[in-house]
Amino acid sequence: MVVLAIHGGAGGDGPWGGPTDLDPARIECMQSILANVGKALEDGKITALEAVTEAVSLLEDEPLFNAGRGAVIGADGKITMDASIMNGKDCSAGACAGVSILRHPIRLANHLLKGNWPLMLFGEGADEAGRKAGLEVVSQEWLATPLRWAQWKKWRDSNLRPGATDEDDNVLNAALDHDIEIGPISEFSHENLLEEIDGPGTVGAVALDKEGNLAAATSTGGMTGKPLGRVGDTPLIGAGTWADSRVAVSNTGVGEAYIRTCAAKRVADLVELANVDLETACNMMLDEVEPFGGRGGIIAISSKGEVCMPFQVTLMYRGTYFKGDVFTAIGPN
Ligand code: ASP
Repeated sequence: MVVLAIHGGAGGDGPWGGPTDLDPARIECMQSILANVGKALEDGKITALEAVTEAVSLLEDEPLFNAGRGAVIGADGKITMDASIMNGKDCSAGACAGVSILRHPIRLANHLLKGNWPLMLFGEGADEAGRKAGLEVVSQEWLATPLRWAQWKKWRDSNLRPGATDEDDNVLNAALDHDIEIGPISEFSHENLLEEIDGPGTVGAVALDKEGNLAAATSTGGMTGKPLGRVGDTPLIGAGTWADSRVAVSNTGVGEAYIRTCAAKRVADLVELANVDLETACNMMLDEVEPFGGRGGIIAISSKGEVCMPFQVTLMYRGTYFKGDVFTAIGPN
């Protein structure tokens, strides 16, 4: 049995208003990834580690997700990206943070995993290691999209705290009148922009291959207006990403809360030590991050093929490949 699950981030408060005009493109991207990478996994052509690397690379290429091209913009007007990957077979891992010139940060994380040491690189060192490894180098102009500049300008003009447009609907609602002042962005209607301002979009994948091995990968641009040097949970093994012989986890949400609770490893520990089922473990973890301001979701699979994708916000872009079937969803089922 093989399983592939992916996510494109979680966010929002209150009831889901249904798909936006931009959602069909996100869903099409997820369906194509699940169908193609899932099939290759099913045919035994790729391992779980290769599946999560490929799936996250393709999600990084979709500008509507907050990773790779289309990553959100920091306080200084620059994009910096974080990613991590873990192979459940031997608990090898790789991670990078503050990457600014690579098209696929997850491929640098995978490169570091294979190199064994160092496990994690930051900033210029990470960019340089990616360049040396022959990974595709791109410009900041190529990475930044009109939607992300609109979010960034809204963040700057409204004097919101960093990440506010991503996570805090009360602050956002207080500033909604300013949205129209963002000015015309040809591809996005005003209505879309209101929806998308709270746009989540961190991406992740978990997979179980034919050999029974698990792997997990996560990639993000972080939060709109984040201060220079801010690192969230995504590149931190045990917080944003975890895979061992029992479970594989990729998280999305307010990173600081996931770091403080070692959220990804927490799920694995609950399954192993507290002997609870995967779904219970995921929900317990979400309950634990909540008091720390954690808002988000998780995708997790077990070596038995169980899949759980709970979230405690309005929506989470998510999907699975299981026994030849592709499933995708945005709001509550
Ligand atoms: N966890 C990411 C971070 O804090 C953001 C997200 O998942 O949306 O950088």
